[in-house]
Amino acid sequence: MKCVVPSCPYEEESTTLQFFSVPPSCSSSFKKWQAHFFLSGLRYEKICQLHFVDSDFRKNVRQELKPKAVPKLNIPTEGPKLAASAGNGCSVAKCPTKTRKHLLTFPTKKPYALKKWKAALSMESNASTTNLRVCPLHFEPRDFRTVTSLYLKPNAVPSKKLAKLKTEPKRKRLPPEERTVHKSNRCCFVPGCSQRACEGISLHNFPKSSDQRYERWVGAINSPREPTKNSSVCSKHFVKTDYFPGAKMLNRNAIPSQNLPDGGTFSGSVLIVQPNFQAEVENDFAAAVKVEDPLDID
Ligand SMILES: [Zn+2]
Ligand SMILES: [Zn+2]
Ligand SMILES: [Zn+2]
Repeated sequence: MKCVVPSCPYEEESTTLQFFSVPPSCSSSFKKWQAHFFLSGLRYEKICQLHFVDSDFRKNVRQELKPKAVPKLNIPTEGPKLAASAGNGCSVAKCPTKTRKHLLTFPTKKPYALKKWKAALSMESNASTTNLRVCPLHFEPRDFRTVTSLYLKPNAVPSKKLAKLKTEPKRKRLPPEERTVHKSNRCCFVPGCSQRACEGISLHNFPKSSDQRYERWVGAINSPREPTKNSSVCSKHFVKTDYFPGAKMLNRNAIPSQNLPDGGTFSGSVLIVQPNFQAEVENDFAAAVKVEDPLDID
């Protein structure tokens, strides 16, 4: 995916630059971002780190073990290499480390590395590693690398390398009540929706595939993709009676019925036809959900 800034050549897949999701259309940052370049507000749009100043980021710097690192220092050459009891601290025999901090777990997801770790500690190849931890004393400094992760602050607005901009915009900090914080980065599973959770919009987990509602949701949404355990559907696709009175929780019988890709759908006796649903809904949904009687909706 190419960076959303028109003049920026970077693609997420072919660079080490960090990319960030753009704000959803219902957030207050969305308008500020749109002043600089076109934004649809869809989840798949991303922007690269080059368009932000340092203070727009929260940084997390940590040491990470390189994938190929194998414990080799301070391991007894004679006698058992693992401590007899799996107490707190490092599991290597005679190791003085007794704290849980900074301990490393076995690379269970990398079979090749796991085999080497086990060999280094003279373990059987099928031995369990569940409670075993190895402390950094058994690795060389070059086995570690520094990883810096950047997180975009909620109210960051792109201000650098924006070709359309003649002057750098003045950046002002908003009062707390005007800041929009997204509850999560997940977005709606319904094709063409891509709504994220924010003020007035909630996301609901897809029923488990063992749940009897699963097939009905799949049928209603009619997506070419198969839902995963992380898929969720936003509140734009439900009617008021799908919710427990006064709560944001769906009742057991709730099936998505609104703003589905086919355009029109029956919901009780109310036929809602919205061929252009996305544009309409994005502008009007916040107002529409406050209407007591669905028949009042134009
Ligand atoms: Zn960019
Ligand atoms: Zn140790
Ligand atoms: Zn949705």
